[in-house]
Amino acid sequence: MTCTETQEKLTRGEALDDGERDHALSCAECGAFAAACATLDVALTELEPCVPEGFADRVMARIEREVDGPRGRERATPTLWYEQRWAGMLLASAAALVAILNFARFVAGVLMPVGSVGGAP
Ligand SMILES: [Zn+2]
Repeated sequence: MTCTETQEKLTRGEALDDGERDHALSCAECGAFAAACATLDVALTELEPCVPEGFADRVMARIEREVDGPRGRERATPTLWYEQRWAGMLLASAAALVAILNFARFVAGVLMPVGSVGGAP
């Protein structure tokens, strides 16, 4: 057996066989590890899970408040004209129309010979 195996067994809380116990008693590293495990076990059993009174209710109330918060803000109607939904749609449509007209002008300028539109060749 190795130090690692012995310490893994101690960590899992498994009982050591005679050889491992002898090793833990003679090996300084494993002895210290076993002592630390024993101390930790005692500390953990002394710790009682204590939840403050009304903790769950406070958590649930807080969650409800946070869930309601953003929805409440979303329900409020925007006051400025450019925050309205129709204004955004109108501006986006106007921008798309300008872009299409610009593209059509560019394509027409490339495809049509300059002379046919009346410009100087
Ligand atoms: Zn050891």
